[in-house]
Amino acid sequence: LVDRIAGEGSRAWDIHFQAVERQRRGEEVILLSVGDPDFRTPQPIVERAIESLQAGRTRYTPINGEPELRAAIARWHERLTGLAIDPAEVVVTAGAQNGLFLSALCLLAPGDEVIVPVPMYVTYEAVFATTGARAVTIPSAAEKGFHPDPAAIAAAVTERTRAIYINTPHNPTGAVFTRAELEAIAEICREHNLWLVCDEVYAALTFEGEHISPCALPGMAERTVVVSSLSKSHSMPGWRAGWMIAPSGLAAHAHNLLLCSLYGLPGFVQDAARHALEAAGEDLAAMRARYRARRDLICDALAAAPGLLARKPEGGMFVMIDVRGTGLGAQAFAQALLDRYAVSVLPGEGFGAAAAGHLRLSLTASEEVLAEACRRIVALATTVAAEQDAAN
Ligand code: PMP
Ligand code: GLN
Repeated sequence: LVDRIAGEGSRAWDIHFQAVERQRRGEEVILLSVGDPDFRTPQPIVERAIESLQAGRTRYTPINGEPELRAAIARWHERLTGLAIDPAEVVVTAGAQNGLFLSALCLLAPGDEVIVPVPMYVTYEAVFATTGARAVTIPSAAEKGFHPDPAAIAAAVTERTRAIYINTPHNPTGAVFTRAELEAIAEICREHNLWLVCDEVYAALTFEGEHISPCALPGMAERTVVVSSLSKSHSMPGWRAGWMIAPSGLAAHAHNLLLCSLYGLPGFVQDAARHALEAAGEDLAAMRARYRARRDLICDALAAAPGLLARKPEGGMFVMIDVRGTGLGAQAFAQALLDRYAVSVLPGEGFGAAAAGHLRLSLTASEEVLAEACRRIVALATTVAAEQDAAN
């Protein structure tokens, strides 16, 4: 299964593990190969958890989440997308990853096909595989900003197709799917009676365009599952606070699966999560502004580098850098960057062949560190260009 997590991209992830190993040995490495927010969880959220622990919130909790938290999630989703949600359609999960897994267990069976645009987030393939379903991958073109191709998605539907999984804003590409793209995908789902699962963990990190949740489109609430969490928006990945929004029958099925597994998220985590959703507005806006400024800093710093093209993401916490113009593959470029300049970025192949020739650089380091990483990336690109000139 670990092999499946990386799939064909296991060599790409090896760069990250090499970098982690070097750090463990005490070597200095700028680690931009993983999307682990560098901001600490805002202090008021931490304090709420401490208060809650001190008040004895250490007992069992409702398996599908505290009603107050589910109501807060429904309000949060409504603020973000304009769609009013019944708290009965909200299930509290241990992060979005848990929601992705539960949705797959609810929806997929052996022999089913799941259509998913690629590049795709690393764990999807493993999640589908646990159900016996098969991913049918549809490339999104780099030249089109890695936006999905609804015509190709429609052409891939067979009688075995059960669901389409999408992710907007997207990891790794930063694409924020447009209303027209989502409407086209929704139309395919309605026409062929398919489920749509939408991973929205980066919804609060939308810089350009508008985050649209497909469950708000006509006729989609009854066939859409939204998966999200506080991991990125609130810098809370280690709290494992997330949720699923699904039609009540499916939410009930997820509730059953949680009865068999998680058995309720800790009460103090749920209290902190609720506080995060209701009271962390300023902290969120500040973090979003920093991510956006970091994105701009990187795109500016790499603009004149020979052979590199930084594709400006519309959302999320990554920048994709097209290195094909250097004449090196992404794997070779990333390995040289780690070996010669101690900067770790992820070759796009880690997210499927559709991201070949690109590096994913994570925005999760300070502006100073990112600026230094860019200087080193430019230095490598310049050296490679000079070496190639000399060879020609
Ligand atoms: N989906 C995507 C696209 C992600 O990038 C991540 C986090 N890396 C997840 C799901 C899982 O998020 P969580 O920490 O909430 O489980
Ligand atoms: N979302 C992150 C990424 O894509 C981190 C995943 C992880 O390490 N759990 O890199």
